[in-house]
Amino acid sequence: MSNDNKNKAAESAAPASNFLRNIIDADLASGKYQREGLPSVITRFPPEPNGYLHIGHAKSICLNFGLARDYEGRCHLRFDDTNPEKEDQEYVDTIIDSVQWLGFDWNRADGSHLYYASDYFDTFYAIAEYLIQAGHAYVDSQSAEDMAANRGDFSRPGVNSPFRDRPASESLDLFRRMKAGEFQGGEHIVRAKIDMASPNMNMRDPAIYRIRHAHHHRTGDKWCIYPMYDFAHPLEDAIEKITHSVCTLEFQDHRPFYDWVIQRATEGGFFQQPVPQQYEFARLNLTYVVTSKRKLRQLVEQNIVSGWDDPRMPTIVGFRRRGYTPEAIQLFCERIGVSKADGWIDYSTIEGALRDDLDPKAPRATAVLRPLKLIIDNFPENEQIACSAPVHPHHPERGLREFTIGKELWIEAEDFMEEPVKGYFRLFPGNKVRLRYGYVVECTGFDKDADGNITAVHCEYFPDSKSGTPGSANYKVKGNIHWVNAADAVQAEVRLYDRLFTDATPDAGGKDFMSLLNPNSLEVIQAYVEPGMAQVEPDTRLQFERHGYFVTDRKDSQVGKPVFNRITTLKDSFGK
Ligand code: ATP
Ligand code: MG
Repeated sequence: MSNDNKNKAAESAAPASNFLRNIIDADLASGKYQREGLPSVITRFPPEPNGYLHIGHAKSICLNFGLARDYEGRCHLRFDDTNPEKEDQEYVDTIIDSVQWLGFDWNRADGSHLYYASDYFDTFYAIAEYLIQAGHAYVDSQSAEDMAANRGDFSRPGVNSPFRDRPASESLDLFRRMKAGEFQGGEHIVRAKIDMASPNMNMRDPAIYRIRHAHHHRTGDKWCIYPMYDFAHPLEDAIEKITHSVCTLEFQDHRPFYDWVIQRATEGGFFQQPVPQQYEFARLNLTYVVTSKRKLRQLVEQNIVSGWDDPRMPTIVGFRRRGYTPEAIQLFCERIGVSKADGWIDYSTIEGALRDDLDPKAPRATAVLRPLKLIIDNFPENEQIACSAPVHPHHPERGLREFTIGKELWIEAEDFMEEPVKGYFRLFPGNKVRLRYGYVVECTGFDKDADGNITAVHCEYFPDSKSGTPGSANYKVKGNIHWVNAADAVQAEVRLYDRLFTDATPDAGGKDFMSLLNPNSLEVIQAYVEPGMAQVEPDTRLQFERHGYFVTDRKDSQVGKPVFNRITTLKDSFGK
């Protein structure tokens, strides 16, 4: 790690401000959530199974599961599957897989804490009936247009529905007939009876149940009425005895209704004190990334990317295939912290976390990405001499990589210049460099084709200069370049990924993110890698010296035919 990176890492590893921990500490001190047989901290991560998880969700997962871990509580994985139309088992499966991959577990000594909101449909229904009977809710039979018009707006109070004061018995009868399937979608709706003049629009008699003749991926055709999100969500939390219900800031204005629902249901005997409390934090916005599921779906459906797990996608499956580790993503989430102020996190932060995680772990290897032939004219014909290099420079116990050197090598095209610019210490006619882990060579000339392209570089080597031998100390050269032996190098496909958008905030302020795509977000090249790379299993991370961190693609790479994805370069060059 360069000094620069070290300093950055130290800076960002400073304790992240976390107002939630202060709240929890206070609750623990006051004994607020001391309950028989239950931990004092129960959080939840409540995804809707209507898409793949993205890096924003990772922030919420790390936060909720992290709090549970640190306070010896528990975190529930709960599928918020109350909207039948967009949800699917495929999404349930990938979400389970992604949360586990990130390193979190909902199984504890006291059971498995994987839940589905759809398992609570009977309870939601019973609470809605109770609210109607207690005069806290009614069936509204206005048309959708009238309902919208009567809601008012920020400057104008709403108008009571003409059905607001219909007898509870009439509402109850209609609600039961809604459930029995007697009506079409939109004919009736159940609304909480709160205050049509409230300055908070969410309190103007919000809908709690609607008719939807739709098949649900878990309950099938059992129901044709479904609870609204704002009604179901607090009840899910209360049913599961959540203590701290953490969500993103846009739900701040929904909190009064969250509290209202739980209070009324508690009065009705459905729950006991202490009940869950909602807290809001700022969502993650990452530069060069969009995180709305709808927008991500657009990228997939319009074939801008190869799928949800395209290594350029900010989905968890995308980051995983790109080569990110769960540890790097956790480290990133720790570093960005949790606050109530919206802002943008620079993409270099997540790359920094990746580098800091991989640098001590990743084995080193050599790859020549833009090959140019180097011919050592005085090297013995058909002879291959054994060379070796450490698997990891700081871990000699991890042993050595073996490869050979011969007369014809591949070097990086950029490591030769016909006419050197100032400060260039690599190969140019008359200059000496060290072939890393091999010999010192002196450049003697080069070949050009008819178009003026350099096709090969010539040099002579000094047989007594081999790295690791006493003679090597006699050679002082400024340049040190990497290479592979043409006789034993393995050809491999390398996928060089870059940011997906050319704009740092591609969907902010109404910008059309689809017009800001980076046409060069993927470059596929044929490279030469050192011979040991032929044996690498898929999904193996390593550092190609001088080039960056790479992973063998988990889908397309095979032993004997490796395919590498560049995770990130060695230094931060993003957006430069
Ligand atoms: P989208 O807006 O893309 O559809 P969503 O928020 O509706 O995403 P959910 O499945 O409802 O997706 O989200 C599950 C949880 O993840 C919620 O608690 C939500 O607050 C949280 N979450 C979603 N996006 C982010 C983000 N960018 N940063 C932090 N948390 C997020
Ligand atoms: Mg949502």
